[in-house]
Amino acid sequence: MIPRSVALQFVLDSVSRLDVVDVGVNDAAGLVLAENVTAMGDVPPFANSAMDGIAVHAAETDAGATFRLVGTVAAGDTGALVVGPGEAARIMTGAPVPAGADAVVMVEDCTFDEGADGETVTIEHRVEPGTSIRPTGDDLSAGAVVMTAGTVISPGGLALLRTAGRARVKVVRRPVVGVMSTGDELVEPPAALERGQIYDSNRAAIIGLVRENGFQAVDLGCIRDDEAALEAALRDGAARCDAVLSTGGVSMGDFDLVKAVLARIAEMRWMQIAIKPAKPFAFGTLRVDPSGDDGAHVDPDGAASRAVPIFGLPGNPISSMVSFELFALAGLRAMAGWAEVERPTVRAVAAEAFRRRSDGKEHFPRIVVSVGLDGRLHARSAGGQGSHQLAAMAFANAIAVLPDGEGVAAGDPIDVRLTGLLARS
Ligand code: AMP
Ligand code: MG
Repeated sequence: MIPRSVALQFVLDSVSRLDVVDVGVNDAAGLVLAENVTAMGDVPPFANSAMDGIAVHAAETDAGATFRLVGTVAAGDTGALVVGPGEAARIMTGAPVPAGADAVVMVEDCTFDEGADGETVTIEHRVEPGTSIRPTGDDLSAGAVVMTAGTVISPGGLALLRTAGRARVKVVRRPVVGVMSTGDELVEPPAALERGQIYDSNRAAIIGLVRENGFQAVDLGCIRDDEAALEAALRDGAARCDAVLSTGGVSMGDFDLVKAVLARIAEMRWMQIAIKPAKPFAFGTLRVDPSGDDGAHVDPDGAASRAVPIFGLPGNPISSMVSFELFALAGLRAMAGWAEVERPTVRAVAAEAFRRRSDGKEHFPRIVVSVGLDGRLHARSAGGQGSHQLAAMAFANAIAVLPDGEGVAAGDPIDVRLTGLLARS
């Protein structure tokens, strides 16, 4: 058995970052920026009001001071209006501050009167120059780097890129990930099960994980335990995708043919990893000739073949998901350009004992992590921990990381890796 870190490093050493493409900013969320983006101009581009109110010359303000209203400036107005001595203009949030004004009194502090000579406004107190005004360049200055290459772009990041004046950005291409399940016992629900058959559940779970993590999933179907069928499916998947994930067929059984096929057609490494669940894992790269039916991935040089990573995840439903979390996610994130390829492990309090025996392996029980009234994270088991027991996986939002040893007593600290949304207590 090899340590988890060795298996992970092998994966990371074997994958490479995908090519850089130019995408519309609206399509860039979750992708990794591949250029430094600078602001095209100052943001805000002009001094504007932070409030609905009146624009005034601050030096003229005082408690009870009255001004003649000379007009209204709305957001989007050109700001041609000029405020002279003794004058004020109504101004709306985001509207350019008119010439002659250098402060805004918010509308809540104004009393408006309709007099014989037109409308006037009386203010409650004096304001300083600059009050309730957002100066030019207060957020970003022209030419400043607003986002650096390597940033995973968040929805807020999209807004920042747009504000900086960008319609398109260079990003690392979103990995296209083929997912197949393997096994003669597998059938698609709701078909009636014959004796010996079960429903294919892994493919749905792995496709879900692929999509949840921002990659594009391609359903490659459920493949028989047949060498020729497996080879054809793996080659087809590799030709159409940037990576292929399969489940099943990598342990010690007589029909564990994924391992056998990969050993023959790919640069493959089969591993027994010192973890529970998900001990068996096969990983390899399959060469794909770009001259094939592969229009989506035309190589710019028109020459080199691609080495497509194949992740042979174990067949046990729980193992396949844990193996995805520990190895495939990291490999796919590396391909997508992420620097931080693993989800962070954080410290929680064990709400119950997590007992285990020393067996030379790290254990990863499926757990529910919630925020307690004490503000700390609390971890409890998500249910039956057998590697075939799916309910615990379905309702878990984290896996605990239990190093080899006797486990953790209730109340002790426990390391957890959040894989879903934090629960309420
Ligand atoms: P294998 O590694 O192919 O021997 O599979 C290990 C166990 O996981 C067996 O009990 C399989 O029936 C089960 N299994 C494999 N693939 C799937 C799948 N796609 N959905 C549900 N169970 C599966
Ligand atoms: Mg099988």
